[in-house]
Parts: sequence; structure tokens; C-alpha cells
Amino acid sequence: MPFTLPELPYSYDALEPVIDAATMEIHHGRHHKAYVDNLNKALEGAPEANESIESLMGKIGSLPPAVRNNGGGHYNHSLFWKILLPSGKGGQPTGKLAEAINSTFGSLDSLKEKISAAGATRFGSGWAWLSVDENKALCVCSTPNQDNPLMDIADCKGTPILGIDVWEHAYYLKYQNKRPDYLSAIWEVINWEEVGKRYEAAL
Ligand code: MN
Repeated sequence: MPFTLPELPYSYDALEPVIDAATMEIHHGRHHKAYVDNLNKALEGAPEANESIESLMGKIGSLPPAVRNNGGGHYNHSLFWKILLPSGKGGQPTGKLAEAINSTFGSLDSLKEKISAAGATRFGSGWAWLSVDENKALCVCSTPNQDNPLMDIADCKGTPILGIDVWEHAYYLKYQNKRPDYLSAIWEVINWEEVGKRYEAAL
């Protein structure tokens, strides 16, 4: 099987109380696992089964919908787990990322507001993103379902450096219908060091 479920870099309860352990366990162990399993099924015997997930994203428009949905799901969640960290360990953006946030959005708070608004106004399921676009500028957008800015068919193309899952499965056990509450709480567990690394790699 070419694609595998990555281990979480922390325990299921590490993000409490922002994201509860039951949500993490179901989200990683069942939802993400299903995307990986269904992606492998969809690519069985296909030459694309040996490509990287990033490479598949770049030509997703020419691949079957099952690859778009499950490959997107695998890419998005693999990124999501990495840009989160245990409660109490969070910091602030530093270096080049901090400078770019300030020059593009005015302040970190205004960037957070913009991403939270993108997630809150995404109707149905999807993701809110901070990406580096083709001009190397930071940009915020949201995508439906398991799409992402790396996909050739995306309205807002770029290299994602931070993604927030706004599917109900990401927050419903603790926050129920209050998606904006989840979106304002999640900033406490964002791994800005990882986001900063991804920013510099995308430049
Ligand atoms: Mn999810």
C-alpha cells in the first residue's frame, strides 16, 4: 500500500481542552484512516499509486473524484496534524513569517480574524487556509470538501502552510454547532514554528 496513515506527533489528549481526545481519536484513527484506505483503493493498479501525494494534487483535475476526495483528505489531514501542537506549548510566529504576516495583514490578530472568517463562512464542509501564492505572497482562502490550494482545480492556488479543518467531525463533539467558537479556540494549539518552516520552504 503506497499511502499510509501517519502517526500523530502527540497523544490524542494532548490538545485538551481546545480539541478533546475523543474527537482526535475518531478524526485521526477513523476519518483520516478512511481517506488513506479509500485513496489506496481508488489508485489500485494505477501508475499514480507510486507518486507523491503533492504530485497527485497538482493534476487532480484529470484524476477520478475518489482520488480528489480521498487524496485531498489524506494531504489535508497530514498537514493539519503537523501544524497543531499540545496545549500550553504554543508560541508566536517569528522571523520571516512574522514579518510577512505584519506587512501583509497588519498584525497576527488580523490574520487570525481573516482565517477564522474564511472558515466560518465556508458553507458545509471544507478548510480554511493560509498559503503562499505564485508571487510568494501570503493569502487566505477557503476550499470546499477535501479540496486544497495545491490542487490544479482550486480557485485559490498556492502552497498551503496552515490549514484548519472546518468539517463538523473536527469540532462537533465539543463545540456542536458553534464553529466560530472552535475557530477562535484553535489558535492556542497552532504550531507557528512548523508554519514558519513551511513558509520559508515555500519561498
Ligand atoms: Mn477532518
